[in-house]
Amino acid sequence: SAAALSNLRNLPAETLGGARVALHANIGLPSDLATALDSGAEGIGLFRTEFTFMVREAFPSEDDQYRVYRNVLEAFAPRPVTIRTLDVGGDKGLPYFPMEETNPFLGWRGIRLTLDNPGIFLTQLRALLRANAGVGNLQILLPMISSTWEVDAVRELLARAAAESGVASGFDDTVKLGAMVEVPSALYQMDALAKRVDFFSIGTNDLTQYLLAVDRTNARVSSRFDSLHPAVIRAINEAVRAAHSSQRPISVCGEMAGDPASAVLLVGMGINALSMASASIPSVKRALRTFTQEQAQRLAAEAIAAEDPSAVHRLLRLAFADAG
Ligand code: PEP
Ligand code: MG
Repeated sequence: SAAALSNLRNLPAETLGGARVALHANIGLPSDLATALDSGAEGIGLFRTEFTFMVREAFPSEDDQYRVYRNVLEAFAPRPVTIRTLDVGGDKGLPYFPMEETNPFLGWRGIRLTLDNPGIFLTQLRALLRANAGVGNLQILLPMISSTWEVDAVRELLARAAAESGVASGFDDTVKLGAMVEVPSALYQMDALAKRVDFFSIGTNDLTQYLLAVDRTNARVSSRFDSLHPAVIRAINEAVRAAHSSQRPISVCGEMAGDPASAVLLVGMGINALSMASASIPSVKRALRTFTQEQAQRLAAEAIAAEDPSAVHRLLRLAFADAG
């Protein structure tokens, strides 16, 4: 019932064995903030800043951005707030920055576009660093990372942004930098990336799209878009092992994190935090509190061994039927 779900608000998200996982909220528009605060989220796991850009008629100024970011950082302090740098391109266009591409999902997207337009990127980075000054809960997340040099280039721009904005204590002391794991090439460079970032966040929407070569927006192939495909499960499992062997936390911020059955599976694989639409937090928390850590781990092991997507779906259905 709704009352039972809302009673969960102040209970920790943990399996019956006591393994803790942080449940974070995804936000985009300012109106998402109140719901996120209300949900009992332990932080913001993904602030998609592109909406701040999409709702305007021109690029938001540094001060415009500063106000938006500051508002979110202050509202959630001292809880962590992960703000993702501009991730336009693909299916998300800016009316005032037209792009014509034959394959937009393989094109000028996310970090590629911002690194190629340092003026746009530096404005955002200065706004972020200024917004964090005196608050201190900012984590910066980089979308569409496919090569290590991209992170190195971001670090140079961050140093420049810090100098330009006069943010006193250098960037590295206060702000954590993370990479999205959503382009398959990142899966094979986790060790090298771990030297360059403080944390990882798996974007299961794009990881599924790119691993399975299924356009996430194409209705004709939507039944083939399946984050419970064994290839996706194995990719996530390998990413978790690699991140942890480099002592880096790893979370999931794609839609998969908000699906209760998938959430149990992800926790069974050792994921440290799940970030989802605020509305999904209570049902995910309830699911996690129904399983022991051993059950979640066994479920994960079985899913990793599965040979077909339907086998994974069956496993999860059975596990949930047993758990009631
Ligand atoms: C993802 O790709 O899973 C993700 C979280 O980012 P977006 O949906 O904004 O591409
Ligand atoms: Mg993505």
